[in-house]
Amino acid sequence: MDVILFGPPGAGKGTQGALLAERLNIPRISTGDILRQAVRDGTPLGQKAGAIMKAGELVPDDVILGLVRDALNADAAVGGAVFDGFPRTVEQARALDDILSESARPLSAVLVLDVDDETLVKRLAGRRQCPNCGAVHNRYFSPPQTEGRCDRCGAPLTQRADDQEDTVRRRLEVYGSQTAPLLRYYEDSATPVHRVDGTGTVDEVQERLRQVLDS
Ligand code: AMP
Repeated sequence: MDVILFGPPGAGKGTQGALLAERLNIPRISTGDILRQAVRDGTPLGQKAGAIMKAGELVPDDVILGLVRDALNADAAVGGAVFDGFPRTVEQARALDDILSESARPLSAVLVLDVDDETLVKRLAGRRQCPNCGAVHNRYFSPPQTEGRCDRCGAPLTQRADDQEDTVRRRLEVYGSQTAPLLRYYEDSATPVHRVDGTGTVDEVQERLRQVLDS
């Protein structure tokens, strides 16, 4: 089963995608995570992509498609994948159709997480991560007990470079102009598109996604 988790930055694609992938027993392919790892590793890809990501712009399609092809060639992905943050342009969507049809794997569903703009900005600009244990906190929704420190391990919390407020606004603009039009592409295709309310607790949203996929 191949499923696209679609929605603006901050809609919860990463969190929900990880849970969904675990339940479906298929990998989650997050192009954002692959790029962030390349930035941390200081590879040529990371050096090129880092500045683009920090500005809130999109990394070129050919680069992204190379990453996705590699991820899909991994053994774990033979039975399908949950795509998170990909595709983001119509060209990427067309290429994914071609890649999947080469292995006779029609896309099962596009799941759209709907979240209002005000909540998105707070989720992104308020997000603080623990570089030590990976825990995620939010200044507005789940503030740490001690300001700036991880509740779980006490390490100082950090902010993703592209979660600064200016970049957040640019990412939302880029989503509106370059990625949201993709929905039309999928609505005109044979793949079912389901809109799911992305607000509420992690468990509530996951349950909605589960119900949609079961139906
Ligand atoms: P994400 O973690 O999915 O929000 O992605 C973080 C950043 O990585 C984006 O703002 C883009 O700069 C870049 N990126 C991730 N996925 C893609 C993609 N499919 N196409 C182009 N750029 C991407």
